[in-house]
Amino acid sequence: MCQNCERQQGFLAELIDSGLLIDTGVDGLYGRSGLFEEVVARFDDLITRYGGQDGAEVARFPPAMNRKHFEKSGYLKSFPQLAGTVHAFEGDEKAHAELLHNVTDGVDWTAGQKSTDIVLTPAACYVLYPVVAKRGPVGKDGALFDLQSYCFRHEPSKDPARMQLFRMREYVRFGTPDQVTEFRATWLERGQEMMASLGMPLHVDVANDPFFGRAGRMLANNQRDQRLKFELLIPIESVENPTACLSFNYHQDHFGTTWGIKTEDGETAHTACVGFGMERVALALFKHHGFDVEAWPAAVRAVLWP
Ligand code: ATP
Ligand code: ZN
Ligand code: MG
Repeated sequence: MCQNCERQQGFLAELIDSGLLIDTGVDGLYGRSGLFEEVVARFDDLITRYGGQDGAEVARFPPAMNRKHFEKSGYLKSFPQLAGTVHAFEGDEKAHAELLHNVTDGVDWTAGQKSTDIVLTPAACYVLYPVVAKRGPVGKDGALFDLQSYCFRHEPSKDPARMQLFRMREYVRFGTPDQVTEFRATWLERGQEMMASLGMPLHVDVANDPFFGRAGRMLANNQRDQRLKFELLIPIESVENPTACLSFNYHQDHFGTTWGIKTEDGETAHTACVGFGMERVALALFKHHGFDVEAWPAAVRAVLWP
């Protein structure tokens, strides 16, 4: 068989063939069909039905953040391999001519690009901490936010559930250790109930972030030992390595210290967040219930289209 005729196999190929995902020629960068987006929107609504009762402050940001805030966040210490920055041309006409030559010659034309004030958002909550810090101490009930953002991570993959640009919905809690751990415990329960109502095979497990390098291995071990991160896992691309569709993170005073966020009584605020991978949940639904949403189990349809 000629190389060009060779068809890709597997779930990604099925998604592209069916039109649910639209190929762009870059692994992990996809367009989505109207039907895919409808499922994302229905799930987004389901999250709000669970979380809306808590009175979170809604905030939506573009998929980028202030580079200074990003530098201060410590993201580069932990995950330099995942970060994405925005650069732009700032040269004169001579530099422009060079740039065009390089494009024509297939030479790297990006070398002359200059960094801008903007980097891509790596996780929805990263933009929030400096905003909350600027407001001053959180009140006696702490603070609660409802976020959604496209996030960028440089992790190109043939696994359709590992995208480079994807949407993350998050609830983010600020307060005392008790307030924050109670928030996470509540969402651990809610998340399982929510995903079980969608007919998903799931389990929850302790997890760690992919901290970079040798020092990172210690951070990862510490995160596991202290049970700071849990994931709700659903098989999508493989049964042996199920995919994290929701995650539940307790940051202790990490962001509170970094940003100087205080509680009413002057203690450093603790924070936690629950993150929902919007594309991953949609993919899990298509994987387990098929591509024809009309044929999905009636109970699942009733939850998504109440
Ligand atoms: P993984 O272990 O699979 O890399 P993660 O631990 O990096 O996931 P988080 O950093 O906790 O994930 O991000 C919050 C949520 O965002 C995850 O629960 C997941 O649903 C989603 N998510 C993370 N990375 C991706 C990605 N590359 N593509 C699509 N969704 C993602
Ligand atoms: Zn978060
Ligand atoms: Mg990851």
